[in-house]
Amino acid sequence: MNAALQNDLNNFENILEKTKQQGIDFLNNLDTIPTSNKNTIDPKSILNEFGLGSIEVLKEFNERLAPLMVSSPGPRYLGFVTGGSTPASIVGDWLASVYDQNTQAVKAQGGASALIEFETINLLLQLLELPDSFLGGFVTGATMSNFTCLGVARQWFGKQLGKDFAKNGISENINILTATPHSSSIKCLSMLGIGSQNYTTLKTIEGNREAIDIVDLEENIKKLNGKPFILISSAGTVNTADFDDFEAISKLREKYNFWWHIDAAFGGFAAVSEKFKHLVEGWEGADSIAIDCHKWLNVPYESAFYLIKKEHVGFQIETFQNSNAPYLGNPLENFNYLNVLPENSRRLRALPAWFSLKAYGKDGFKDIVENSTALALHFANCLIETESFELLAPIRLNNVCFTLKGNHNQDKVSDFLTILNDKGKVFMTPTVYEGRKGIRASFVNWRTTEDDVKIIIEELKASILDLEI
Ligand SMILES: *Cc1c(COP(=O)(O)O)cnc(C)c1O
Repeated sequence: MNAALQNDLNNFENILEKTKQQGIDFLNNLDTIPTSNKNTIDPKSILNEFGLGSIEVLKEFNERLAPLMVSSPGPRYLGFVTGGSTPASIVGDWLASVYDQNTQAVKAQGGASALIEFETINLLLQLLELPDSFLGGFVTGATMSNFTCLGVARQWFGKQLGKDFAKNGISENINILTATPHSSSIKCLSMLGIGSQNYTTLKTIEGNREAIDIVDLEENIKKLNGKPFILISSAGTVNTADFDDFEAISKLREKYNFWWHIDAAFGGFAAVSEKFKHLVEGWEGADSIAIDCHKWLNVPYESAFYLIKKEHVGFQIETFQNSNAPYLGNPLENFNYLNVLPENSRRLRALPAWFSLKAYGKDGFKDIVENSTALALHFANCLIETESFELLAPIRLNNVCFTLKGNHNQDKVSDFLTILNDKGKVFMTPTVYEGRKGIRASFVNWRTTEDDVKIIIEELKASILDLEI
């Protein structure tokens, strides 16, 4: 064995101890570690001939790379929609690396890990109160989840016209209807060869809403003259956390032939709270749903899952079957993940979610969701009181979309955000909503408290003062 590897092998326990301590130091200081920094590195480090060993490399990491790390799992990182790892999720994530299983077939080597993934999907269905008529699996993020779902929808669409797009390529225009799709769904249309401009934008409900206007949807359906189509709907838009009316869409399903996809990346978690579950009422009728775990489930990046109705497993296999892995018998019995989703080799990606679900239960996630939403509302109320800000949209769930008060301040919004973020105590991201520049604060992190909101408001006020200098 190579000397550096042999040394590391002999020293494994010490290496892991040091790594653990490193983790503790970071996590215990999340509150004071900045949410942004200007540290940088020259990324042209030279590969040494002989290995340094893990302990030496850990030192180099500490000197050069650790200072680049921002407090993105911390309580005041409100940019994008960013969760932070819970203790249980870190246990699962670490152990997924330690056990290093290839998660593919149920009845093969590594099969136990596919069963753990089944079990985790089953726990998630219980958490979200969805029926077990869905078959699910883990992918790296909601983008890949949308990709997986829309890939199967594409195959379904072809089959409605007697074509096999997976085998022969796309030979027909694919009809897509959507109102406020997430950018990643549009990216998926590009990746899937459907075309990123090849969709019809539906009207949204009047009055500061991002949800589909159902009357307009039906009019557009009628224009298709009975042709099949794919509907991309939203459970939680990123700007205003708006939800489409799933009960109304379910009714349209009784009359028209379409594939119904829901992007529920973060909004799906509304289902865990009595206060918000009405927002997703009727969503169980969808053909496919995309949900992120690295957002509101607060597990480390890269964790998301897709749910696709079991009745579509044939289309799913036609889309993703690995040609070297022929199916034997019933695909649900001889199940192999490599035939139903984009990747072949996969880590035990479900494990962080499995640990989290077991460790915190329904009540834990209900509390996270209700804490996030209460803080979003509290933050919005504090914002209004400052008189320097105005809301761009009502607070429906956990996202606060706001801007500097008055149209005359529109050209100052991006400077203001830079000042705020550079202070390093809070991080938010820019947006444009109804033609106005704004700022988004998304509450999903399990650690955030009212004290954080107090700090955030102080930072906003201080940034206003800095802006005027
Ligand atoms: C975050 C998000 C996505 C993309 O998810 P990734 O995890 O970044 O791939 C898709 N849709 C919605 C609504 C989102 O909020």
